[in-house]
Amino acid sequence: MATANRMIQKGSTGADVKLLQGLLNQKVPLAKLPQGKKLVEDGIFGSKTDAATRTFQQMKGLKVDGIVGPKTWGALGVTYTGPGATPTPPAGKPKFEEKKPKDGFDGAVNPPWQMVPMSGQKTVILKNAANLTVVSRNPGIATVEDVPKCFVHGGRELIIKGRTKGTTWIDVKDGAITVASLEVAVKTKKTIQVSFHLVEDSAGHKTSRNTGSVDGWVRTMNDIFLPQANIQVTKKRAISVKVNKDLGTVVRFSSHLAGVPASEHEWDLVTAKGDAAADFNVFFVWEYEQDINPNHDDTDAGTLGKNCIFEDHAGTNVGDTLAHELGHTLGVNDFYGATEKPLLMYGITDQRGQKIPKAHANTMNP
Ligand SMILES: [Zn+2]
Repeated sequence: MATANRMIQKGSTGADVKLLQGLLNQKVPLAKLPQGKKLVEDGIFGSKTDAATRTFQQMKGLKVDGIVGPKTWGALGVTYTGPGATPTPPAGKPKFEEKKPKDGFDGAVNPPWQMVPMSGQKTVILKNAANLTVVSRNPGIATVEDVPKCFVHGGRELIIKGRTKGTTWIDVKDGAITVASLEVAVKTKKTIQVSFHLVEDSAGHKTSRNTGSVDGWVRTMNDIFLPQANIQVTKKRAISVKVNKDLGTVVRFSSHLAGVPASEHEWDLVTAKGDAAADFNVFFVWEYEQDINPNHDDTDAGTLGKNCIFEDHAGTNVGDTLAHELGHTLGVNDFYGATEKPLLMYGITDQRGQKIPKAHANTMNP
């Protein structure tokens, strides 16, 4: 198929004018051409070519202006590639992407998912959707608007605002057809009050940690939980507690072991020192094990219900590990898959990431 890369009109000259003249000679009946004669195919756009062009435009129901642009070229069977050509369709399908990591976006689920705090907002990237319409299915739950273009470099960004708790979808529409969706969960803020306890026993065994570090760990926990699940961690108290018994070199979760009398259930003795009004009680001890082989240091911390015993050798990223243990209290178990390392709930200390995916966020803060 022939192509043309510009608009031409009376006064134009060139090979494309010659192409036009040849096509008009084919497509306009001889009787309708000026003076009933074929145009001279000389590449000069004069009065006769202009008259024939207008006749052709009239025949095709086009605007009769003598200007051969995208529509007239198209009606002549010529592909127009010049300025003003209809934009070519986007290279890919419309696609939502996270604006920044660990901000409550889950692209691994279908449709992708974004946590939005109630009365707050999140920004997401929308690719391959330059001319498409974006709407919220339920603006009472969440609204959507474009970030003004001048602030966006190379694409489209959307601001989603949380109005009321609930789930809705942001739909990308091409006319009446929905071509992509983003699930949005608007979550109310859940506050978790944490009490921290530095444990020592009657024989002088004690944690090497101190209360001065607690605020930093709480900050780390909030950096993880607030943007991804709208969960805020607050420090309720951070104190030293003394257990009036020699717990030995290893504090053991022993109540499940045959023959261990209740008086030696060390988990119970330690957690009895907790704060009944807290949502999460952390007990820092020197060494902790929860299996039948206490001399093998394979456990860093254990969480059951709202209590967590946390040893001094529990990795280097204490805030991350505390966040992981809080995740257990909030109802999510460990994951060990090779692809699950980016998750906060990956089971191995210091190898895990901080990501909270949709399923975990929905369990932690339904
Ligand atoms: Zn765990």
